[in-house]
Amino acid sequence: MSVVLSARELTRHYEVSTGLFKPHALVRALNGVSFELHAGKTLAVVGESGCGKSTLARALTLIEEPTAGSLQIAGTEVTGASKAQRKQLRREVQMVFQSPYASLNPRQKVGDQLAEPLLINTSLSRTERRAKVQAMMQQVGLRPEHYHRYPHMFSGGQRQRIALARAMMLQPKVLVADEPTSALDVSIQAQVLNLFMDLQAQYQTGYVFISHNLAVVRHVADDVLVMYLGRPAEMGPKEDIYANPLHPYTRALLSATPTLKPNPDKPKIKIAGELPNPLNPPSGCAFHKRCPYATERCSAEEPAFRQVGTRQVACHYAEQFV
Ligand code: SF4
Repeated sequence: MSVVLSARELTRHYEVSTGLFKPHALVRALNGVSFELHAGKTLAVVGESGCGKSTLARALTLIEEPTAGSLQIAGTEVTGASKAQRKQLRREVQMVFQSPYASLNPRQKVGDQLAEPLLINTSLSRTERRAKVQAMMQQVGLRPEHYHRYPHMFSGGQRQRIALARAMMLQPKVLVADEPTSALDVSIQAQVLNLFMDLQAQYQTGYVFISHNLAVVRHVADDVLVMYLGRPAEMGPKEDIYANPLHPYTRALLSATPTLKPNPDKPKIKIAGELPNPLNPPSGCAFHKRCPYATERCSAEEPAFRQVGTRQVACHYAEQFV
C-alpha cells in the first residue's frame, strides 16, 4: 500500500499574549509528531481535549502552516510548495468536521453543494457533474429528491452523510475526520461509521480519524496514535495497543473505557488531576504529575519516543509494562 501522508517532526507553536507589557509566551500545541498513513488505512488520533489533536488536523489539512517539520501529501512536500501545488494538494486532503454545519452552506441546495468541488476542480459538463453527484448521493444513502433540499431539512445523521459525500466527491487521497460522530445519537453513530468504512474500502482513501471515544476508535482504526500535551505518547497497531497498552496514559484512557471482557491481569489506572497548563508544561515527562509510576527520573528527563516491540512509546519504563 502506498504512503499517502507522511509527517516528520510536525510542530505547531503559537505565541500568546500574557498581559500588557509582559513578554509573549509560547504554546507548544503540536510538538514533533511523526507518522505515515497508507492508502486504505485509518490512523486514529486520541487524547484528552487540549492534547493537540485538532491542531494536528488543521496542519494536515493545510488550514495552518506548521512551525517546523515536514509534511508530505501523496509524495509532495507541503512546506515550500508553490501556490499551484498547494491548490492541487488541497484537493487531495479533505476534512469532515464534528458539526456538519461547519462544512455545509445552509443557503445552498445539497445537490449544488456536492457539485461545487467538481465545478471548481474539474472540466466535467453540468450533466456529468449531476450524474456524479447523484451516484454519490445514492452511495451515502440519500434519495434523488434530496438533491433540491437544504441542509436544515435533514437529520443530524443525514447531514453528516452529506458532509462526507462532499468531502469524497473528488476522491481525495486523505480524509481527516475530526470527531465526526460525537454529535450524533448513539443509534446513528454506527451507521455513519460503517459508511465511512464502506467509502474507504471503495476509494482506498487514507483516514486520519480524530476521536476521544476509544470504543469508536476500536471499530475504525488500523493504527492508533495517543497524544498528550502536544506530543505523541504511544503509537502502534490497534490490536497491540488495546491488548497491552505500554504507556501509563494509554492504560488510563483504556481503563476509563467500558469493556465486555475486563482483563483481571491489567489493573485499572485512574488519571489524577487535570491536563497541565500548556503555557507552563511540567519538566521531564509531561505526564509525570499524573502518572502513578512516576519516579525522580521522570520529572527530570524527558522520555524519548522510541521503538518498543511493535510500537513507539514515550516512557522511560515502557519495557516493564510489556
Ligand atoms: Fe509515567 Fe515516568 Fe513513564 Fe512518564 S516516563 S509515563 S511519568 S513512568
